[in-house]
Amino acid sequence: MLGTSQFQRYTLLRALTKYIRDSYGYPITRFRKMLLSNANKIRNPKMHLLLLILIALMPSVKADETVAVNITSKPQPIYIEQGAAAQYLNFDFVVENLTREKLLVSSIEVSVFDQKDRLVLRRFIDGNGTRPSIETLNNRELEGKKTILIFNPFHTFDNQVELKKLRYEFSFRVPAQKKEYKLEVIVVPVTYETKTNLILPVKGRMIVYDGHDFYAHHRRFDYLIPGLQQLGFNSNFMRYSYDFVPVNQQGEMYQGREESNQNYFGFGVSLLAAGNGKIAAIVDDKPDSRSFNEAELASNPMVLWGNYVVIDHLNGEYSLYGHIKQGSGRVKVGETVRQGQVIAQMGASGSSMFPHLHYELQTGIDTKAEGLPSYFKNFRRILGSKIIEVKRGQVDTGDIVEAQ
Ligand SMILES: [Zn+2]
Repeated sequence: MLGTSQFQRYTLLRALTKYIRDSYGYPITRFRKMLLSNANKIRNPKMHLLLLILIALMPSVKADETVAVNITSKPQPIYIEQGAAAQYLNFDFVVENLTREKLLVSSIEVSVFDQKDRLVLRRFIDGNGTRPSIETLNNRELEGKKTILIFNPFHTFDNQVELKKLRYEFSFRVPAQKKEYKLEVIVVPVTYETKTNLILPVKGRMIVYDGHDFYAHHRRFDYLIPGLQQLGFNSNFMRYSYDFVPVNQQGEMYQGREESNQNYFGFGVSLLAAGNGKIAAIVDDKPDSRSFNEAELASNPMVLWGNYVVIDHLNGEYSLYGHIKQGSGRVKVGETVRQGQVIAQMGASGSSMFPHLHYELQTGIDTKAEGLPSYFKNFRRILGSKIIEVKRGQVDTGDIVEAQ
């Protein structure tokens, strides 16, 4: 048992180590080592014991002693999506400030290494220039003890680049001070082999109004925004989504008044099973009102989609169809569907700006799922007067495609 005064001394010393840790970002390991090496020099057995107890009481920290920030890349695994001319990385960094100081991300550098661990390329964003590239980050101010999401700024690489390993170096500045912290994060992306041999879920000419490129709204879902966390979102379930909108020969999505769903070429168009499988979920009783009840979001985040269908491809992959037309469901839960079979119609239910199909290949049926890269077979890519036949390929924001 310890006497009161000793206890107070321990409390004081613990508070001191905590203060040092918070102020200087975990130099605790060094402090601990220093205490240990000095413990044997103390002749007074009481003081010796006191010091040993103090060391035992100190929080043990595995991290590097200069670590002020903790960075995690999300989701895991990180996939390489293969495009016709480039490859894409779709992931984010969760950045946690372990100090009490406000930090500012001052630069991010990425170095790409091949299988032989040789440098392939290096890129960075920093504070150089009158409108510096670091300002393109969605978020770079880190209040003390707070966590922010940073969308990976290096998302597109030439097909020739072997993305074996990426080393990110983050630099953080303490504003108005010279102090700077650096932290390395290693990212090892893997190629995802889509198991389902998908077709585009809509026939005819359409535009990928918004997909999942770096600027797409599906990509820019910051689930660390406090309100969203309270609603139970802790990942980006829309990471690989598409909004498909049928267009005419001129690329227009509607004629006449935009407010009327009927004026959209896509409203009521058949939605096809992108692959074989079993119906895992279907809802089709919501109106095509381009709105949803926000109060329901906490208990059922799927209200975002209004009406929806989910096909379980029975291989760990699921196809989600969002915003389908009220009363248009042609299938029931548990029913087996064949690729190309009509399952529902395009609508404007839920969080939908106008009639379109929200489609994503994902790992599960709800918003707890992660998105997966998807490739489609047998379609045409319409590049103005140039038309390219695609046997199997990736599509993304702005692409005009036509299923055969
Ligand atoms: Zn969407």
